Amino acid sequence: KKGILIIGAGGVSRVATVKCAMNIDTFEKITLASRTVSKCDAIASDIKKNQGVDIDTASVDADNIPKLVELIKKVNPKVVLNVALPYQDLTIMDACTECGVDYVDTANYEHPDEAKFEYKEQWARHEQFEKAGIKALLGSGFDPGVTGVFCAYAQQNLFDEINYIDIMDCNAGDHGYPFATNFNPEINLREVSANGRYWENGEWIETKPLEIRVDHDYPEVGVKPSYLLYHEELESLSKNIKGLKRIRFFMTFGDSYIQHMNCLQNVGMLGIEPVMHKGVEITPIEFLTTLLPDPASLGPRTVGKTNIGCIIEGYKDGKKKKVYIYNTCDHQECYKETGAQAVSYTTGVPAMIGTKMLYKGIWDGKGVFNIEEFDAKPFMDELMTQGLPWKILDLETE
Ligand code: NDP
Repeated sequence: KKGILIIGAGGVSRVATVKCAMNIDTFEKITLASRTVSKCDAIASDIKKNQGVDIDTASVDADNIPKLVELIKKVNPKVVLNVALPYQDLTIMDACTECGVDYVDTANYEHPDEAKFEYKEQWARHEQFEKAGIKALLGSGFDPGVTGVFCAYAQQNLFDEINYIDIMDCNAGDHGYPFATNFNPEINLREVSANGRYWENGEWIETKPLEIRVDHDYPEVGVKPSYLLYHEELESLSKNIKGLKRIRFFMTFGDSYIQHMNCLQNVGMLGIEPVMHKGVEITPIEFLTTLLPDPASLGPRTVGKTNIGCIIEGYKDGKKKKVYIYNTCDHQECYKETGAQAVSYTTGVPAMIGTKMLYKGIWDGKGVFNIEEFDAKPFMDELMTQGLPWKILDLETE
């Protein structure tokens, strides 16, 4: 086995593929496959021009296991990186076990007809991966992904015990449209319009959508309204960080985004159940996705910064300790380097790094793993040199 197979050709894939090409010494050979091969060819031709690296392309329907198996057997890679949509996680995982190839993704499985955001079905494949003698790395984007690595790094290097974690996700970018989403609209709107939830003292506490707001001061960005959301890494981190008492997730949204989303919600445009329209079945949120700008097209027009990080509180040597570990990223700099904006960039870079950890055998094991289960240090080192440098601030404890 040699090289990697990347599946999906959207914004995140563009960044991950460019970054893999910049690390061709590690990856040896890159194949990019998606439903629409012309999108793969466009990415490959930009990479040939900018990085001088040749990339093979292919067409595949990743909902179809036999077709995936056929492609994986033909390409014979060491790792498959799934940057298609969360709907394809299980089919790609099953094809990987059939072929005995390691698997990496950036988002947990979603059933097209249910908005659940849970790891259950992927964790249930642990034994299947163990038996096949291979590993799956789940959630190697930014959040989930780098946020889990930040928490693991704090647990492994900075604290004796961690009690509180707040994950703070700020996108202060401006694309100039009244309403657009920075990654796949269907997934983004499902996440934001769902009830909020956080974990405290072993229990999940549910909130109404966007019910809890805090005005948080993001380093290098400023104060932004931030709303409590459920986010998938809460499920794995609440299990994997020992001594934890509470973990929450906050994301910034501008007033225009919220007004539009509420209106779309109220008129039923975020519905995930099919409705009949003039004798044709349509799913409202799918139709909305067709109308909204393609997230990949936001790159040239988005200006401003992102800041994503974790505020972590606990004890070290018997004393209270609180740190803020974060990364800031500039939309236009990301665009200049990869042709994509910072939301795709902050996901695509860690997708490459996670794949590299498996490819080089730095992270090893048999089964299905979340990112915080591994040694965080080598991943943190890669973030510094691959475009997502981080900082640690010491904060006052109460
Ligand atoms: P896009 O919608 O831009 O791209 C998705 C790609 O997947 C498209 O190229 C699409 O096909 C392809 N695809 C969809 N269905 C299939 C299929 N059945 N078979 C083959 N290919 C298929 O999404 P993004 O690039 O914005 O996001 C990619 C992933 O990253 C998503 O899972 C998203 O949830 C995740 N993400 C994770 C984040 C994190 O921090 N962890 C943050 C942001 C995103 P086609 O070629 O036809 O266009």
